[in-house]
Parts: sequence; structure tokens; C-alpha cells
Amino acid sequence: MTQKERYAFVIEYFEKNSPDAETELIYDDPYQLLVAVILSAQCTDKRVNLTTPAIFHKYPTPKELSQATIDELFPLIKSISYPNSKTKHLIGMARMLQENFGGKVPLTVQELITLPGVGRKTANVITSVVDKQPNMAVDTHVFRVAGRIGLTVNARTPLAAERQLTKNFPLELIHKAHHWLILHGRYICIARKPKCEICGLRPVCKYYQKQLKQVK
Ligand code: SF4
Repeated sequence: MTQKERYAFVIEYFEKNSPDAETELIYDDPYQLLVAVILSAQCTDKRVNLTTPAIFHKYPTPKELSQATIDELFPLIKSISYPNSKTKHLIGMARMLQENFGGKVPLTVQELITLPGVGRKTANVITSVVDKQPNMAVDTHVFRVAGRIGLTVNARTPLAAERQLTKNFPLELIHKAHHWLILHGRYICIARKPKCEICGLRPVCKYYQKQLKQVK
């Protein structure tokens, strides 16, 4: 099977089974999405969604958040991972939005990565979710699932995986493909024990085909 055929199968499968894939983070505007994505590092979307309503209520725009103190914000996010650094990042991010971007979330990767707490993955998420830009965010799920299926080959870093996926998925599908792979990794192709028995990607999945050969 060629890579072209593998990608074509995967696209057809997800278009049919997951046509409306989108982020599971709850947000109303780019500012709220940015806060949620920063909080979601090493944390589940479910937990972030339990945390953000109180933050958005108290700090509805970057302006209010930029004026927050660490002591005020910390109690609101203390139940999620790395609360100390995330508190500092959120306040720093809001201050920089105010100072450098007129209180608006910029929509280029280059500008976004200048904000505290925002790396390439977060910038790719924001630009692809808000603006449908063809920027593939590679998190742990995307990295694992793409490698198992064989959409990436010998990719040793998220950046290498990002480049391969971006090259092979049609540009207009990249923003959606990110969610396809994340959700597949979260619910089917889970890290410890992938649920291959209920997965429709078995015919093209390199990991599954390899397991089959070992059993025979
Ligand atoms: S067949 Fe198994 S390993 Fe392959 S994508 Fe599906 S769940 Fe993951």
C-alpha cells in the first residue's frame, strides 16, 4: 500500500465517521480558547472545562486578566496541572495581548509564540481552530496515532510529524485532521491498549498489521 492510498483511506474513514470533528474545549472567542489551550497542557480537556467558567466570569477579556494578581488567579486553577506556571503564563499572556496586540489575540503562529505559555503546538491549535489555517498541531495523541497508522514514518519529534502530516493531508483538511487524530487517540487508539477490535482503520494501520503477523 502506498502512502497516498493510506492517506486516502484514512480521510475517507474520518470524513464518514467523524465529519464534524472539533475541539472539546468549551470557549466563546479566541481569547477564551487561548486561555483554555494554555491550561490544557498536560491536563484533560474535561478538567479544563470545569475550570474555565469561573476564570471567564471573573476575567471576561484580556484587560481584566492583565490586571489580575497571582494570588487572585491561582485559586481558580489550582486543581489543574502546573498551576504555578500556568497562573504566571496567563497573566503574562494577557498583559502582552494588551501591550503589543491591542487586547486582541493575533492569528499568526509567529506572533502567537511570542506570548508567555504559547509554543508552536498551541499557536497551531489557535490558528487552525479560529481561522482554519493549515497548521497541524501535534500533541501526544496525534504523534502516537499518526505513527501507529503509518501516516508518519520514523518521525522522531513533533515537528517532524507535523511536517510529514502537513505535506500529505490536503491543505483544506489539515485543521480538521488534527481533531480526527486527537479524538481517535483519546477514545479508540488509546496509549496503553488501542481498541483495534472496534477500529475501522485496521486495513491500513501498520501497527495492527504488524500485530497480526506476530500472532500468525
Ligand atoms: S487499528 Fe489499532 S493501532 Fe491502528 S489506528 Fe486503530 S486502534 Fe490504533
